[in-house]
Amino acid sequence: MAARKIISRKAPSGRKFTLNPKVARRSFMKIAAAVTALTGLALSGRLTKEAEAKAKKSPYSQSKIVRTICTYCSVGCGIYAEVENDVWVRQEIAQDHPVSRGGHCCKGAGAIDMVNSEKRLKYPLKRQNGRWVKISWEQAMDEICSKLLDIRKKYGPDAVHWNGSAKVSTEMAYLQRKLAAFWGTNNIDHQARI
Ligand code: SF4
Repeated sequence: MAARKIISRKAPSGRKFTLNPKVARRSFMKIAAAVTALTGLALSGRLTKEAEAKAKKSPYSQSKIVRTICTYCSVGCGIYAEVENDVWVRQEIAQDHPVSRGGHCCKGAGAIDMVNSEKRLKYPLKRQNGRWVKISWEQAMDEICSKLLDIRKKYGPDAVHWNGSAKVSTEMAYLQRKLAAFWGTNNIDHQARI
């Protein structure tokens, strides 16, 4: 039997410790196996399960369930949207969707926030003296457009990069792509392409 090789090392604190390559390798294999198993579970969507009847009980007595898709990328994961008086009030992952099979990424899991989050931006804000101040759409458009036109005049259309937010839907991303093309550049990226 081959002799076990023990490697000695010195920690930054000055304390000596030993590395047994056989044990280190065994630990690594165990961690790798666990990560592989968890990744497989996540990909197969088995980490999520359908909510039980108790959790599903709705406070919205007049609501209806609409089967739809997440619009944040071209995968099109399935969503059950609960709608009351034409307002989206709750969402549930569609366990029976043929593509996503009950799985969502974080964007889809929070898709409803685009509609009813209290933090949603509803009007333009401008930072003045360290504070965000509400301004009119006219002021925002005038200031942004004149700055953009200045840059274009001085440095050309490629001096601007159009970057889409992670909360841009695929349809909004399409329009953004068109805008960049009209502007005259290919410097454009957004979440729907990734
Ligand atoms: S953004 Fe996420 S949840 Fe939405 S369709 Fe794409 S992968 Fe699915």
